Amino acid sequence: QGIKAARAAFPNVPQVACFDTAFHRTRSFVEEAYALPRRFFDEGIRRFGFHGLSYQFIAKQLAVVAPDVAKGKVVVAHLGSGASMCALNGGRSVASTMGFSTIDGLPMGTRTGAIDPGVLLHLLDQKHMPLKELETLLYKESGLKGLSGLSNDMRTLLADESSAAKEAVEYFVHRCAREVASLATAAGGLDALVFTAGIGERSSAIRGRIVRKLAWLGLAIDDAANGRNSTLISTRVSRAKVLCIPTNEERCIAEAVSERLKPG
Ligand code: AMP
Repeated sequence: QGIKAARAAFPNVPQVACFDTAFHRTRSFVEEAYALPRRFFDEGIRRFGFHGLSYQFIAKQLAVVAPDVAKGKVVVAHLGSGASMCALNGGRSVASTMGFSTIDGLPMGTRTGAIDPGVLLHLLDQKHMPLKELETLLYKESGLKGLSGLSNDMRTLLADESSAAKEAVEYFVHRCAREVASLATAAGGLDALVFTAGIGERSSAIRGRIVRKLAWLGLAIDDAANGRNSTLISTRVSRAKVLCIPTNEERCIAEAVSERLKPG
């Protein structure tokens, strides 16, 4: 619809579609498939993974700001209102937390993240919840907003004294730390952990709490550097580097468009 509308409004302007899933096409079958009968995979019921434009940008930036780890095994945490993580090996995506839709994986501002599909069957079957209501619940009323009953904004929750706000933040931190370890397994190691997007770039408190939960992996955060939102925020003894790198999906799109439209 978007392509048709744009073509009608600007008939002579070339259009370039940049898919947020394309970067993840390098992943293996076991990362892309669900354990459903094979025909569903063939029909396209797959873990597509999202935030690909952000991860592509970060992979490129890593080669500039941390060339020693850019060729290695890296987990990138894109923590914004939408949140996901991606495991990179040699700058290519090998695993991601998001799946067929943008609901899966980490809890987000208003989305649940991973949830047992049995809960959805229960709500539909036993509670007779209308489909649209279920969709709104999963996309718009859950995550930080649903758990806190207060806000989807991490700043508001970090400043709030209520136990529900504290539990919502702890849920987020806990799930993030678990997914780092899971993705490191998918990558076969961990040379660096990169934080990006709204929360990842600006919240030293959340970064610090996630990294401290990963102390058993040998990760150690430099509190002063973390407090300054420096690029390198791990200590010298940390077994993997921890970095904070601002993402720029728009720039990634602009570069892809300019590459595509190059004369010749
Ligand atoms: P994004 O979708 O990447 O723009 O990120 C939006 C999220 O980043 C919101 O949940 C904001 O609350 C959060 N955010 C932005 N700045 C800060 C900050 N200084 N501390 C904590 N969270 C922040």
